[in-house]
Amino acid sequence: MESSEEVWKDHYSHPVPWDQAFPPMSMVDMVLRSATARPDGVMIDFLGRKTTYGDMLDVIRRVAKGLQHMGVGKGDRVGLFLPNVPHYVAAYYGAMMAGATVVNFSPLYTAAELEHQVEDSGTKVLFTLSAKALLPTALEVLDNSSLERLVVGCVAEALPPAKSVLFRIFKRGETAAIPHDPRITSYAELLRHGDDPVAVDIDPEEDVALLQYTGGTTGRPKGAMLTHQNLTANARQVLMIDPHPEAPDRIMAVLPFFHVFANSCVLNRTVLNGGEMVMLPRFEAVQVLAALQRTKATSLPGVPTMYQALLDHPATPNIDFSSLRLCISGGAPLPLELKQRFEAMTGAKLCEGYGLTESSPVVCSNPYEGVNKSGTVGQPVPGTRVKLVDREDPSKPPPPGEPGELVFAGPQIMKGYWQRPDADKEVFLEGGWLRTGDVGVIDAEGYVKIVDRLKDMISVGGFKVFPSEVEAVLYHHEGVKEALVIGIPDAYRGECPKAFVTLQEGADVDGETLKQWLNPQVGKHERVCEVEVRLTLPKTLVGKLSRKELVAEERAKAERL
Ligand code: AMP
Repeated sequence: MESSEEVWKDHYSHPVPWDQAFPPMSMVDMVLRSATARPDGVMIDFLGRKTTYGDMLDVIRRVAKGLQHMGVGKGDRVGLFLPNVPHYVAAYYGAMMAGATVVNFSPLYTAAELEHQVEDSGTKVLFTLSAKALLPTALEVLDNSSLERLVVGCVAEALPPAKSVLFRIFKRGETAAIPHDPRITSYAELLRHGDDPVAVDIDPEEDVALLQYTGGTTGRPKGAMLTHQNLTANARQVLMIDPHPEAPDRIMAVLPFFHVFANSCVLNRTVLNGGEMVMLPRFEAVQVLAALQRTKATSLPGVPTMYQALLDHPATPNIDFSSLRLCISGGAPLPLELKQRFEAMTGAKLCEGYGLTESSPVVCSNPYEGVNKSGTVGQPVPGTRVKLVDREDPSKPPPPGEPGELVFAGPQIMKGYWQRPDADKEVFLEGGWLRTGDVGVIDAEGYVKIVDRLKDMISVGGFKVFPSEVEAVLYHHEGVKEALVIGIPDAYRGECPKAFVTLQEGADVDGETLKQWLNPQVGKHERVCEVEVRLTLPKTLVGKLSRKELVAEERAKAERL
């Protein structure tokens, strides 16, 4: 019988150098190289306040020194509970310079979510800001978990001089007072210990730079261990497919840094080639358009819903987009019509790529110049191999001509899940191939098309929602007997969660009431668009609740519309 490798080779005949070598490089070396090469170059334009590479390196060194002074050493976990502000960049590279592993936390997390991730990762020190939206949550977790220290940046310091979007996010009245507590250090205090951290010996291929939480193909969020080499390789891979790497971009940094897409395609890519980041702490179409006009940014990585929101904004027809050359879309499928309308409106190229947390994340991209095949996520990036395996039995290839599960190998593939050898067994195949849980086909030129998803995850505008987490909340309602959550098509966000429930005997509650009860208790992206009450829910032969039939039903319904 044919081996799966042979099948893959049959389908893969394009010139991307999949055997490209990536010499080991640590994240610290990457920062030092750029900062030394252009100390006076602007690294961050934060709403008009600019920071050079040289100045940022000074702050990064101070963060490293301050953390070492606190007792943080090699392998300790340092968390970031921050929006896109310069503090994030300093804490991210500073923690790595101190030898620590960074743990990213979404600034939208509730205290329960934050606490779970703090405990699971063993986070020792957490960086946050004195914003009402963040500090009270962090304080609650400091009291209820094994977290040892908080480093709190003052919102007033993060505010740029001009009236700007930050004023609206963290209005002065919306800042929280920092309590006096020996476990709490102000960011300013942290920087006071000097700029000469002890150099830490880093093995780029072994040492974990980032613990990035994800639901993976199933279950509760777990930490993907991304090594220094995983991250620097992915930044190099993304840069290598750029035909003009010698002209550093001015990148709009509006994708949230806590997500691995922004970590790689915005932050690390910028630093690797000495580019500039125009940083916005959150996405708001009008602010992005204004920042584009003012800064003449050249690149705007985003998720499809961001491009849709920019297109839909009434100010868009009056904006001069001539500086914009490249937009990279990822995280969710990019509708063809959106791509065409956006490119026509801006004159910039909108390229779709694909990846997952476990692969740092980019594994495929349409070329920045050359043939973009719409509906595909492009070709594997250099150094990356792809093949299809059978959906039921991943040890063999799929039947000839049929889609299969996409599996990848390359220098960007994670080391494994944090303290979850059981989950590693499920996701890695022999030879280090990573299972994606995505079903695809590969054409003769190596372009990959995603046709289905095996995993339960729902992608709401690129943000991932795990059905079991929403179902767990529904089960707390006294009237709910059984619950299933699936993603249904949504014109704006790609998908939105919908819940199906059966009721306990004698319970008298309708779907709308359940929706109103559920939504305030879950995260923004987990809010369901509908709760449908049914008499029964589909089950597998062994009696387990099954989402598959509901997904097919809803798909058929959407096609009829
Ligand atoms: P995450 O680990 O949160 O980055 O989610 C990764 C998942 O997002 C992938 O396994 C895909 O299911 C989905 N995804 C990412 N990019 C795309 C894309 N361009 N088209 C379709 N699905 C995508």
